[in-house]
Amino acid sequence: MSSDNFIPYGRQLIDAEDIRAVIKILKSDWLTQGPAVDQFEREFAAFCGARYAVAVSSGTAALHLSAIAAGFGPGDEVITTPITFVATSNSILYTGATPFFADIDPETACIDIKNISSRINGRTRGIIPVHFAGQPCDMEAIAGLSKKVTIIEDAAHALGAQYKVQGKWFKVGSCAHSDMTIFSLHPVKHIAAGEGGVITTNSSELASRLRMLRTHGITRENALMEQNPGPWWYEMQELGYNYRITDIQCALAASQLKKIEGFVERRREIVKKYNEAFKDNPYIEVLTERSWARSSWHIYVILCKGVDRDRMFHALRAEGLGVNVHYIPVYRQPFYVKKGSGSPSDFPESENYYNKAITIPLFPAMTERQVARVIDTVNTCAKDLAT
Ligand SMILES: *Cc1c(COP(=O)(O)O)cnc(C)c1O
Repeated sequence: MSSDNFIPYGRQLIDAEDIRAVIKILKSDWLTQGPAVDQFEREFAAFCGARYAVAVSSGTAALHLSAIAAGFGPGDEVITTPITFVATSNSILYTGATPFFADIDPETACIDIKNISSRINGRTRGIIPVHFAGQPCDMEAIAGLSKKVTIIEDAAHALGAQYKVQGKWFKVGSCAHSDMTIFSLHPVKHIAAGEGGVITTNSSELASRLRMLRTHGITRENALMEQNPGPWWYEMQELGYNYRITDIQCALAASQLKKIEGFVERRREIVKKYNEAFKDNPYIEVLTERSWARSSWHIYVILCKGVDRDRMFHALRAEGLGVNVHYIPVYRQPFYVKKGSGSPSDFPESENYYNKAITIPLFPAMTERQVARVIDTVNTCAKDLAT
């Protein structure tokens, strides 16, 4: 199998304009956190419809800082989904709080609201819903569960997604039903910065705390400092990190952000073809898009029915499709098993999903020929394995 025959499950799309934007920075005075970061943050916040955006070094850093800013700490419980990348629940552990997993809704693979509400108790301090595969969770319902918890949306999959509440469309990242929303700028996500992450919020207190935390807990803002004896002065007010992002990365991300609508449109067009092509295949089920949701489709998952998932996975790989499994339920990871975060029998829907799921290729740069080849390969392999 030659490498041009291999179709990965996801891939960035970088054009000449993106390259020019990065070269411009390389020729400028600033390389690290400078004016390109501020500009990207303004454009990102405007795109999402949030008041503030804070750019950091990764989606994981965005999760970590938002968990600190939320005030999570030892003794607190934070509810999230087991069908996510480990970074989501790790960010809870970084603060000393305990992640509690709530089982998923089998139709969407997003966290199930009724399982959140049955897990809320006096120690619950937060909820981190993950907009799985790009489909927004029911944020109105989640926001209505409790007034006392901090809600952080993990929207690493969902830049450009929208959801409707009482006839009105909201962009994911607007924080209309949450305190903060985090995004990832990893090349496999919707827009690439190399590595990078963003937190959006409508709270000026949270935004300024996040800005401080990303640079060692240091501020130079007059209004925030206890004293200001001269221009050399800065204050470290709490224990922060070096989670800064660079101007090089933000120039690339800002150039990519200009194309987000087209990227999402292309993803949705491919998904429509997949849905149509697998509709009559008795061995394949797909996730449901809610009528009130407009998914930005970070990934496309097929669920094997009557064919063995592992054999199907190997067969698709052998045909040159870069298939994957998103995700191994987090409670199955050895580290979480040792922590006693729950056993498979506690999460029947996550287990059922995990045993059937395969992520097939989906990215805006896919050609029509590649889309047709994926469809043909999936349908043929399913039929061959079933008979
Ligand atoms: C990718 C991802 C992250 C982490 O983002 P990085 O930029 O890779 O650190 C967090 N949560 C989810 C759901 C992700 O898919």
